[in-house]
Amino acid sequence: MEKKYDILIVGAGIVGLATAYKLLEKNKGLKIAVLDKEDRIGKHQTGNNSGVIHSGIYYKPEGLRAKNNKEGYKMLLDFCQKENIKYEITGKIIVATEKHQIPTLDIIMDRGIQNGLDGLKLMDIQQLREIEPHVGGIKGIWVPQSGIVDFPGVTEAYAKNIKEWGADIFLNEKVIKIENKGSDCHIITNNKTYIASLMVNCAGLYSDKLAQQTHEKDLGMQILPFRGEYFKIRKEREYLVKNLIYPAPDPSFPWLGVHFTRMIKGGIEAGPNAVLAFRREGYKKLDVHFGELFETLTYPGFRKMATKFWRQGMDEYRRSFFKSAFTSALQKLLPELTEEDLVEGGAGVRALACGRDGALLDDYVFHDDKNVINVCNAPSPAATSSLSIGNHISDMILKKM
Ligand SMILES: Cc1cc2nc3c(=O)[nH]c(=O)nc-3n(C[C@H](O)[C@H](O)[C@H](O)COP(=O)(O)OP(=O)(O)OC[C@H]3O[C@@H](n4cnc5c(N)ncnc54)[C@H](O)[C@@H]3O)c2cc1C
Repeated sequence: MEKKYDILIVGAGIVGLATAYKLLEKNKGLKIAVLDKEDRIGKHQTGNNSGVIHSGIYYKPEGLRAKNNKEGYKMLLDFCQKENIKYEITGKIIVATEKHQIPTLDIIMDRGIQNGLDGLKLMDIQQLREIEPHVGGIKGIWVPQSGIVDFPGVTEAYAKNIKEWGADIFLNEKVIKIENKGSDCHIITNNKTYIASLMVNCAGLYSDKLAQQTHEKDLGMQILPFRGEYFKIRKEREYLVKNLIYPAPDPSFPWLGVHFTRMIKGGIEAGPNAVLAFRREGYKKLDVHFGELFETLTYPGFRKMATKFWRQGMDEYRRSFFKSAFTSALQKLLPELTEEDLVEGGAGVRALACGRDGALLDDYVFHDDKNVINVCNAPSPAATSSLSIGNHISDMILKKM
């Protein structure tokens, strides 16, 4: 007889494991399993992100991203202290390098204040240079709450705790089919069938695929994979960046623009850009999955989005294929930077949820379905907010049980 779980979580990324952590923190008696198709936890978005503890300044005050960032930020710092995980509150500057970006700074500043951030300061270029001596631009915002951390380390610590509390983590288990049978959910993988009273879908780049199997209505969205590529600043020139330097973001996009990040394990990363990946887990330029690419290109939402933003898309591809174009974008923030200062870094792929109307979904999306909770959109800052998101999902589950 198969062991029956109370809750089975698909996806051992930071959201899935934080959910298991919060569930067990609330009720140590629950029988929980976490499955992942990979041979290690946190291999996808969680393992390839920028490592920034976001302050919450960017998000619409009424949205779930703002609310969860506020709560999750504090929960993350408390967890890091409890588990002795190194983090640093470095502060960051958001810089307008052109006049037309100044209104965006005002909007962000206003959101930051509404989101309860203290100590934000509008600065002129002289004041910005007291913080980052090599920065270029006109005007900026000082955000004291931003910081850096090792998110894969945080994820490992969630996993260690839940295992100590009796949860199972099974790797190399790819979920292929989900069937509701009466009050049970049967989760069929490449190896076997798991039975649980309730399943949580935290499958990131494949969350829509799994949700389609259990959500009764049309999901109204599809995940589009957008690769973010990084460079690193060579060692001898790392002095150009002290901590975190971000541009004033283009308000029509869900990403923040290429920026500089000091990493908690050392080194300075520059990026990421944002180009459509030709497969959902396409980390390299030439990674293609024809089926997945076809699905993306024929999705009406993608076509509408591409029609609207084709010019910005072409610019992103230029930056992807020509290092000189990537360097030019970075030089706006750091005029002394040269192409020779940059060495190739890694890449991450963001799961962007796009509606059929071509709009990118701005906020987290949770569907409460029969025997299943589908987490269909958990974009940045979901790593910073993971414990708060896990708390929210665990409350949904406990209410449902
Ligand atoms: C380039 C980049 C930079 C970012 N920077 C930041 C940052 O600085 N700060 C921040 O807070 N956030 C950042 N984010 C966002 C953050 O990393 C993500 O929001 C977060 O990691 C999402 O976690 P997740 O668990 O939902 O997804 P993932 O980490 O992608 O986990 C999903 C898991 O599901 C598994 N899976 C999928 N399908 C199946 C299946 N069929 N069967 C079994 N398992 C399956 C996958 O293998 C994967 O391990 C960034 C993201 C990217 C991509």
